[in-house]
Amino acid sequence: MGEAKPCQAMWAFQLPSSLQKHLNRHRAAGNSIGFVPTMGALHEGHLSLVRQSNAEAGFTVCSIFVNPTQFNDAGDLSKYPRTEGEDLFQLERAHCDAVFLPSEEEVYPSGLDSGPVFEFGPLDKAMEGEFRPGHFKGVAQVVHRLLQIVSPDAIYMGQKDFQQVAIVREMIRQAGLKVRLVMCPTIREKDGLAMSSRNVRLLEGQRLRAGLIYRQLEMIRENAGHEPLADLEKRALQSLSSEPGFRPEYVRIVDGKTLRSVGDYSESDFIVACVATWVGEVRLIDNVVIKHSGEG
Ligand code: AMP
Repeated sequence: MGEAKPCQAMWAFQLPSSLQKHLNRHRAAGNSIGFVPTMGALHEGHLSLVRQSNAEAGFTVCSIFVNPTQFNDAGDLSKYPRTEGEDLFQLERAHCDAVFLPSEEEVYPSGLDSGPVFEFGPLDKAMEGEFRPGHFKGVAQVVHRLLQIVSPDAIYMGQKDFQQVAIVREMIRQAGLKVRLVMCPTIREKDGLAMSSRNVRLLEGQRLRAGLIYRQLEMIRENAGHEPLADLEKRALQSLSSEPGFRPEYVRIVDGKTLRSVGDYSESDFIVACVATWVGEVRLIDNVVIKHSGEG
């Protein structure tokens, strides 16, 4: 797929130069560009980002690229679901204007170690940073590179990956990029489980029990104003640990901006409860905002 090809109503590009030419025509016509980066295996969560971009931007580009540099576990990378044909179908149904499907060589022409290095201080040390060393370095690297290629007016990302949004916001600031970052709400299954490309790897019994993650986050939200936050973290951790097949890595109640642990509900205007747990062989993360008042 060297050249741009119309995929019925949606355009598909593999080469950055072909995508850029196409986007330049739309910019010249006065359209703003909205960008949704993904790793494919698309579900309603991803499509909600496309719809949000459609509502705000004149032209929406979605990228599908399973970025090797953000996987700290080779097994996780090799098992990552790849469903390109179905993804294209879903994107078209969501009225995405173009899909960008670059190869590794196009994203990293100078090798996997290329690109600027960012310093995130405490933002990439806690939570995911603690359990997935190097993960956010890879995330910042690929999003920076994709933003370089697409040059969108806005980038749409999901709250589901709350720490990732904080990292990308900081990367955009440090790189001085002129792009608006829009954080979109987490889309959930009926039982509250956050939609994730990894959910398809859950065994039937595990899937039936996985709603517990959201129920514990809700438990924290309901009690946060009147019980010590450390007790709530402990209670949620115990509840998750006692579920067969669950191996929680953390339950943390943090400041929504600095991601530092919050000891007391009155300490911050913006508080988020975050969880990471293994369910069998699948690692799931989720979060809910438990307080957001004032400017946040
Ligand atoms: P991924 O393909 O997992 O890298 O995700 C691509 C984008 O979709 C990221 O910005 C995610 O935060 C977002 N996303 C993933 N799951 C959901 C969800 N359940 N609700 C909203 N956004 C999501």
